[in-house]
Amino acid sequence: MSPDPIAQRELRDADLVAVRGQLGREPTTPFTVVARCTGGHPLVIRNATRDAHGDPFPTTYWLTCPDAVRAVARVESEGWIARLNERYERDGEFRVHVDAAHASYARDRARDDPEAQGWAGVGGTRRGLKCLHAHYAFRLAGGDDVVGAWVAERVEPVHRAQRGGRVAAIDQGTNSCRLLVVEPPSEPGGAPDELARDMVITRLGRGVEATGVLAPDALARTIDVLAAYCRRARALGAGHIRVGATSAVRDAANRNVFAEAVRLHAGSELEVIDGPHEASLSYLGGTGGLKAEMGPFFVLDIGGGSTEFVVGAGPGVAGQALSTRMGSVRLTERLVADDPPSRRDLLALEAEIERVLDEAEAAVPIRTARTFVSVAGTATTLQAMSLGLGRYDPDRIHRSWLTLRDAERLLAELARMTNAERAAIAVMAPGRGDVIVAGAAILVAVMRRFGFDRTLVSETDILDGLVLELLA
Ligand SMILES: [Zn+2]
Repeated sequence: MSPDPIAQRELRDADLVAVRGQLGREPTTPFTVVARCTGGHPLVIRNATRDAHGDPFPTTYWLTCPDAVRAVARVESEGWIARLNERYERDGEFRVHVDAAHASYARDRARDDPEAQGWAGVGGTRRGLKCLHAHYAFRLAGGDDVVGAWVAERVEPVHRAQRGGRVAAIDQGTNSCRLLVVEPPSEPGGAPDELARDMVITRLGRGVEATGVLAPDALARTIDVLAAYCRRARALGAGHIRVGATSAVRDAANRNVFAEAVRLHAGSELEVIDGPHEASLSYLGGTGGLKAEMGPFFVLDIGGGSTEFVVGAGPGVAGQALSTRMGSVRLTERLVADDPPSRRDLLALEAEIERVLDEAEAAVPIRTARTFVSVAGTATTLQAMSLGLGRYDPDRIHRSWLTLRDAERLLAELARMTNAERAAIAVMAPGRGDVIVAGAAILVAVMRRFGFDRTLVSETDILDGLVLELLA
């Protein structure tokens, strides 16, 4: 039995409270929120494959917004389940599409628990249709579901207050593929409403350092995630989907395969983001909304394949920047031979990091900064550990301070653990455990060298920068 790792690891307290209110009872299964309505309340949740007692829970996607639930119930009360089942029996093409939705639903569930593939499809059935709520929820989550699309046409918009101009961005990094869907701010200068934010670690950049090409299995895995993200963005009403790719794709000879997939699924051209642009997007996402008097700012973005150093006078607009080819995945692949890393591995890491910091120091006036902002998964995960969180709650982490002392202590702890031990930490995203030692070593080295005794950890980063640029 392997419980769904993602659902148990990341959840905001505020969402737990909201879903409890929507369901009118205590949720029985760990979940994450995969889609929201205008105003931010949960619309669709993704349940773990097993409930709190370890019993199978086949309904992976669950519609929770009470207005959406009522709207679909109205359609069901008009007798549509029976009518669509009749169509399923007599219309072969419709049947093929419904069966394909069931199969892809089962595959999606099995991502976290291979045994769960056998538990039938949408709404827990193998043939025909049982529950229109389940189909609609699957579609909103990014499922390719003909029945869900049919329901959408009949019930949307669920809320009259829904604003137009929704957009989405996908950030394809070396390690992870991330999605953000937003609705423009209700008033100028405000923050956009978040409708979906998601991350899957697909390791697209695995091996690029050595081979110069994207590995076929990593490419296939990533394109599956990309396609589902684009369907979700479109189901949530995003008119434009922007896909930016950084380091790994930037350096790969076969990046046109990925670019073709982007054209097909997102309907836009892949933007290969160069180092300077990546730095300015990280800065925009990391400092947007911060008080001007906290400036000048230094933003550090530790990625899998590159690390950006950016300084700017005020929030939003970057000044000097340097993008380096040092990243947590790249350093781990090149320099960490043992598990747990040996003394020799750690010294090699330190030496390579110091060499890159010499370059950064020469290019960017880091010491002039008053506030040091850390973005991306290394820093946010360290902070989740430092705060002692039992599950990853982005609301608790965003814009909280991580001290040098805590960062040093965590680096030492993590470096003593095996990959398996790190992967088992509650707040560690799947796939991050084996590269976080290198990432943490970068953060600690930067704080020590430039004299920062604390850093402001930010959940908003290049992904938010991509969306803010689209809305500007
Ligand atoms: Zn709603």
